[in-house]
Amino acid sequence: GPQLPPRELEAAIARLFAVEDEALRQTTIRAKEQGLPSIQIAPLQGKLLQVLARASQARKILEIGALAGYSGIWLARALPEDGRLITLEIDITHAEVVRESFRLAQVDDRAEVRVGPALETLPQIAAEGPFDLIFIDADKGGYPQYLEWALKLARPGSIIVADNCVLGGDGLEDVHKPVNSPTGIRAYNQRVSHDKALCSIALPIGSGMTVAVVLNKEEQE
Ligand code: SAM
Repeated sequence: GPQLPPRELEAAIARLFAVEDEALRQTTIRAKEQGLPSIQIAPLQGKLLQVLARASQARKILEIGALAGYSGIWLARALPEDGRLITLEIDITHAEVVRESFRLAQVDDRAEVRVGPALETLPQIAAEGPFDLIFIDADKGGYPQYLEWALKLARPGSIIVADNCVLGGDGLEDVHKPVNSPTGIRAYNQRVSHDKALCSIALPIGSGMTVAVVLNKEEQE
C-alpha cells in the first residue's frame, strides 16, 4: 500500500476526517485579506479538538490566542447549545476579525472573544470557570504561566491542549540546552510530561500538540 510522508498523511486524513465547510474556508480567506498571519491550526487539529471536547462533554471551553477565530469555530461547534467558548486575544484588530468569523459561522451565540494580554484577562474570567477544555495557542514565552492558569481554571477531568509544542523536535529538547526553540515551550513540555496531576502526551500533528488530562487525587501515581 501507499507509504505517505507525514504531511501528505495528514492531508489524506484531513480529506477523510476533517473536511472544512464554507464558514471555515471563508475564515482563512478573510484573515488573509485582513493581513493576519496564516498561523491557525490545521483542519485535523481542529477535528482533534472537537473529539476531545465531545469526549469530555465540554460545556465551557477556554482558548488563549484567537487570531481570526478559526480554531474557535471548530471548538464552538463541539459545544452544546447552552455551552460557552471564551477566547482570549491581545490584538484588537484580530479580535474584530474573530467577532465577524463567529457571526458568519453562526456560533456567536456561544462563542465570544475577550481583548487584552491573556495574563490580564485570565484573572478576570476565573469566576466563570471551571473550564472543561482549555486550548493554549498564544505567545510561546507565556506557555508556562498559561499552564499555571489552566490548572487553576480546570477541574479533575478537564483537558488542557497546547499547540506548537513539538516544533520539529526542538520543543522536546532540554530546557537548558541552547537550541533554536523558545524556552517557554520546552519548560511547558517538561512540566506537562512530569506533573503527577496530569496524564499527558505530545502528538506530532501540525507543529505538535500536547494533550493533558487533569487527574483527581486518587488517580495520581
Ligand atoms: N488559535 C488560533 C487558530 O488556530 O485559529 C491561532 C492563534 S495564533 C497562533 C496566536 C494568537 O495569540 C495571535 O492572534 C496573537 O495576537 C495572540 N496573542 C499573542 N500574545 C498574546 C497574549 N499575551 N495574550 C493573548 N493573546 C495573545
